[in-house]
Amino acid sequence: MTVHSGRVPEFSRINSGDFAARGRPPQGAPARPDYRRSAGVLGAQEREPAVTREGRRPGARTVTTSSKKAAGQDYDAGPFVPQRGGLPTLRRAAAGCEGCPLFRDATQTVFGAGASSARIVIVGEQPGDQEDRRGEPFVGPAGRLLREALGEAGIEERSAYFTNAVKHFKFEIAARGKRRIHKAPSLREMSACRPWLAAELRKVDPELVMALGATAGKAVLGTSFKVSQQRGLLLPMPAWDALGHSDASGADGIPVREAAAHGCVVATIHPSAVLRADDREAAYRGLLSDLRVAAEVLRSGAERAAAD
Ligand code: SF4
Repeated sequence: MTVHSGRVPEFSRINSGDFAARGRPPQGAPARPDYRRSAGVLGAQEREPAVTREGRRPGARTVTTSSKKAAGQDYDAGPFVPQRGGLPTLRRAAAGCEGCPLFRDATQTVFGAGASSARIVIVGEQPGDQEDRRGEPFVGPAGRLLREALGEAGIEERSAYFTNAVKHFKFEIAARGKRRIHKAPSLREMSACRPWLAAELRKVDPELVMALGATAGKAVLGTSFKVSQQRGLLLPMPAWDALGHSDASGADGIPVREAAAHGCVVATIHPSAVLRADDREAAYRGLLSDLRVAAEVLRSGAERAAAD
């Protein structure tokens, strides 16, 4: 579906080749973990770990029988998140997560997708019906619209890692028929799933996090976040260990150069809100405008890295 007219290449395309120049932190930048990832240089922890003779992978926490009995009742994915290993290890462990009740009705865990060297992590709310069936994020109608908007904003898809704040599809069955209707995850479910998002962000360590919609914004910045007030602003990047605990209520944006040097969060509406909007053209233009803010930060970061 095309809901816009014409392409407006306001910013030069972000060349993921520029990314290789970002192998070290910019001068004056505070210490942030492992800038080698920004250069696409994978460390040993990115390799597939060996499986122990007991069938467990090193680093995975043991989930006891008693905790299995109460599966999903503790609302905490933390005990399922391996302490070691890269994205492949996280993805395998997430497939068995029972950190909240949502695993019971969904088809499968839909973990993030993309390279560990991605410059931008795009966080949605939760997988939809098609994502749940296919096990991949952003493959339904909203995902197609997002990819179109990313291209139009000048952000290369291959420079992005796609994930959701909540990794299982929450739905109810329509009164008539068998159609599964999306239900928004609760704050408790979003908080329970946050350790997975924090683990993904720690591994990818992006320059920019794009939060799509209120749930994603709250997962990254905290419950004071309001998408209607803070979309399109350059908000300071939180520490991964304090994800979701910033006080974003008073944040009114930082300059582009600071955002490019130290990382930032940009929020916008979820692309599914564009599909539901009465005026899709206007909603799409708003989404595009916010993505262009992110594109400008990435371009500034690439220029800075090239100049270093
Ligand atoms: Fe685990 Fe998140 Fe799925 Fe809940 S939604 S079971 S915390 S992966």
